[in-house]
Amino acid sequence: MSTPLIQDIVIVGGGTAGWMAAAALSTVLRGRYRIRVVESDEIGTVGVGEATIPMIQRFNRVVGIDENEFMRETNGSFKLGIEFVNWGRVGDRYMHGFGKLGQDLWTVQFEQYWQRMRKLGRAQPLEQYSIARMASLANKFMPPRTDLGNSPLSEIAYAYHFDASLYARYLRKLSEARGVLRTEGKITHATRRGEGANPGHVDAIVLESGERIAGDLFIDCSGFRGLLIEQTLQTGFEDWTHWLPCDRALAVPCESVAPLTPYTRSTAHRAGWQWRIPLQHRIGNGHVYSSAHISDDEAAATLLANLDGKPLADPRPIRFKTGMRKLAWKENVVAVGLSSGFLEPLESTSIHLIQSAVQQLIDFFPDRGFSATDIAEFNRHSRFHYERIRDFVILHYHLNQRDDSTFWRDCAHMSVPDSLQEKLDLYRSHGRVVRRDNELFAEVGWIQVMEGQNLVPQRHHPLAELQDEQATHEYLEGVRQVIAKCVDFMPDHAAYIAQHCAAKRM
Ligand SMILES: Cc1cc2nc3c(=O)[nH]c(=O)nc-3n(C[C@H](O)[C@H](O)[C@H](O)COP(=O)(O)OP(=O)(O)OC[C@H]3O[C@@H](n4cnc5c(N)ncnc54)[C@H](O)[C@@H]3O)c2cc1C
Repeated sequence: MSTPLIQDIVIVGGGTAGWMAAAALSTVLRGRYRIRVVESDEIGTVGVGEATIPMIQRFNRVVGIDENEFMRETNGSFKLGIEFVNWGRVGDRYMHGFGKLGQDLWTVQFEQYWQRMRKLGRAQPLEQYSIARMASLANKFMPPRTDLGNSPLSEIAYAYHFDASLYARYLRKLSEARGVLRTEGKITHATRRGEGANPGHVDAIVLESGERIAGDLFIDCSGFRGLLIEQTLQTGFEDWTHWLPCDRALAVPCESVAPLTPYTRSTAHRAGWQWRIPLQHRIGNGHVYSSAHISDDEAAATLLANLDGKPLADPRPIRFKTGMRKLAWKENVVAVGLSSGFLEPLESTSIHLIQSAVQQLIDFFPDRGFSATDIAEFNRHSRFHYERIRDFVILHYHLNQRDDSTFWRDCAHMSVPDSLQEKLDLYRSHGRVVRRDNELFAEVGWIQVMEGQNLVPQRHHPLAELQDEQATHEYLEGVRQVIAKCVDFMPDHAAYIAQHCAAKRM
């Protein structure tokens, strides 16, 4: 006898997480399940989250989004990576660019040849072998041209900057057109099943109006408060503040200035860092900081003193705690988005974590049996990704040589998770990075941050010595020149947007 299928899916919350879940599920489930989003205008959304990583293209493709239309509707710009300023030492500047570094030869990775030639004083800075970085410096952008064979132009990797509230609005329109129902109202509490099948599962949420909304599967997208996963099911939270001490942010938009840069910038300050996210109509800025190290007033003054344009509002405070929910899926509640955990936006990973959770939910979509084995696998996957991204974010803080504040000294001297220490040791030894179990950030991302923050390996891969020195030098030079020529060929970022996806001005 087969287990009955679920029928009613209730998505609690209509921020980016809620509407991404609604858009994906309404696409995949094709009207065979009832999907309802419940959101409260009075409570609103967190209202930040403007920078993404390239995997979002896959999400947008699956839900059938046309790139140019989406860019127009969300005032979007393109993103080739993140420029980090003042992270290793004050005055340092490097980029974690998307896509490849150089061009691999047959035996070992490109970076190993570069390591060898650098020791011999015959290599240029690593960034000159990255099309993402060189194009960013020239404010150029174009999507990859697959007709260009193995040219670097055929492999350009990119993501987007967009207005998060417009993205949620866009996804809402799309979801409602696919049959998703929406209820506006404030949820006061949830009720749970007593005796019978699935005792303890949430069976309904109750609104301030008294309306009761029943469901079989609840997706908790209620943001930091974790209305169902925490307030109702008391799942518990694993706190990572001892590794990532920033606990507050101030966000403020400012007027645009030219040029329209195709990258996010992250500038480290005395006790945190500042993001700069260029959109078509404004620049999004925010200061992420540790309240144990600086006051709110100092944080606000630092933020406002480092804007490129005139502020368009007062800085808006946001408080957070870094860490993850002990279980992302418990009983019949799946937490997606901020309700499942939080990692600061240093590598723009939160929207990706939403996408990844929704994908996993589709892969492990339940029937009324709610298999414990499937749920455990979902939770294992979620934990793995959270922890690996956490390690990558910690890397930026830990690998610093700054001596200008206790914040940076404490970060440099803290002990880090074993999984990160292994990566650091491996790189320090022979410049190697091992990507475990399809973790989010590939070797090339780790290398750019480790090199950018001045971790120089003691040795390089012995097989990088197999090729003649002069030939290796010429090979590196060849790669560099090809990249420079490709960048010359690329259009200006603002011109590309003006031609293909300029937002309508109000
Ligand atoms: C400072 C900061 C910067 C960030 N920058 C980035 C970035 O650059 N890139 C990135 O990928 N991510 C970023 N993020 C994360 C990103 O903002 C979130 O992942 C994303 O917005 C999803 O939020 P959410 O939908 O989970 O929660 P929210 O936006 O908080 O939405 C919660 C929803 O639940 C509803 N709700 C809550 N309680 C109730 C109730 N009682 N009744 C009815 N409805 C209720 C609310 O009305 C709302 O609709 C950032 C986060 C912060 C804090």
